[in-house]
Amino acid sequence: MSTKDFIEKDYYKVLGVPRDATEAEIKKAYRKLARENHPDANEGDAKAEERFKNVSEAYDVLGDAKRRKEYDEARALFGNGGFRQGPGGGGQFNFDLGDLFGGGPGQQPGGGAGAPGGAAGGFGGGLGDVFGGLFNRGGPGATRTQPRRGQDVESEVTLSFTEAVSGATVPLRMSSSAACKSCSGTGDKNGTPRVCSTCVGTGQVSRGGGGGFSLTDPCVDCRGRGLIAQDPCDACRGSGRATSSRTMQVRIPPGVDDGQRIRLRGKGAPGERGGPHGDLYVVVHVDEHPLFGRRGDNLTLTVPVTFPEAALGGEIKVPTLGGPPVTLKLPPGTPGGRTMRARGKGAVRKDGTRGDLLVTIEIAVPREMGDAARKALTEYRAAAEGEDPRAGLFEAAKGD
Ligand SMILES: [Zn+2]
Ligand SMILES: [Zn+2]
Repeated sequence: MSTKDFIEKDYYKVLGVPRDATEAEIKKAYRKLARENHPDANEGDAKAEERFKNVSEAYDVLGDAKRRKEYDEARALFGNGGFRQGPGGGGQFNFDLGDLFGGGPGQQPGGGAGAPGGAAGGFGGGLGDVFGGLFNRGGPGATRTQPRRGQDVESEVTLSFTEAVSGATVPLRMSSSAACKSCSGTGDKNGTPRVCSTCVGTGQVSRGGGGGFSLTDPCVDCRGRGLIAQDPCDACRGSGRATSSRTMQVRIPPGVDDGQRIRLRGKGAPGERGGPHGDLYVVVHVDEHPLFGRRGDNLTLTVPVTFPEAALGGEIKVPTLGGPPVTLKLPPGTPGGRTMRARGKGAVRKDGTRGDLLVTIEIAVPREMGDAARKALTEYRAAAEGEDPRAGLFEAAKGD
């Protein structure tokens, strides 16, 4: 059951009863029409079937005192089969949207200047019921006033290398669009915008797409809001939206990489009319670490070793990021540039496991040496004479 149905369909006419018919009269009329048009009694008669549907639909509303009241009020508000013309023409209405916007300007009898008498005055507190009753029921014509999901918001954050690897909770200052406080989101100085006549308050306009389906576009006249300010609010210039900035603590999961865009569900702008929050997207920048590097899930580290350590082998202790050092066993004859792996000492993966720490060995050459060391090294040179590491280079250089 949509608003459009309420506006377009004359259920009293369908049942053939006057507007002031009693409950008993409505029931009687319905029973008679239902019996006459019942599909069982009119097999293969498509028109009877259609009538039966319409009669059932009409009774669904008029047969229920509460829904009949809503229907009557909606039609009084929107007119019968279209908009009732106000004195200013254009088929526009003024009414108090206090209830609709919740915590708004409250009951303002009569609305703004030039209000066509009756429409607003007659409703007062009843309007909330009308909208609540009609719009919460769903249906294609009711999208505008249904809860609407908040906007997605994008932000940026710069993390230290360690924070990126281990995860961190960081304060994030964000500006987002929220309902304007001055006008309670109505966009109107007096809190009395009129319903857009172009889209009948739905905020959407459908155009035939051919092939039996239609496409909907946001309404141009009201920019998809369904409402138009009569006396635009100074604070928001009639948009009903204001920029608000807030700081919130955001949990960045471990293992994020520089340039990564992460999505935090439900941390975006608040929804409208009780709709859910949008999502927050955070683009992460990661500072470099003076020591460690990053290659996917793995951390990298270059470790200097002495020539004797590399040549003779031995155990070396290397630091890890945020944990105790690990000891690596260098096999005798380890060349410079070799990479060794410390398992599970890398960055945290999505599944909670960790990558590895890739340790690249670099042969450190002492800048200065003590006499004893120099003497020993000179002796070593003499002992190792005849070993030429460049022997193969010249032959290879001549090759094709
Ligand atoms: Zn519109
Ligand atoms: Zn405003």
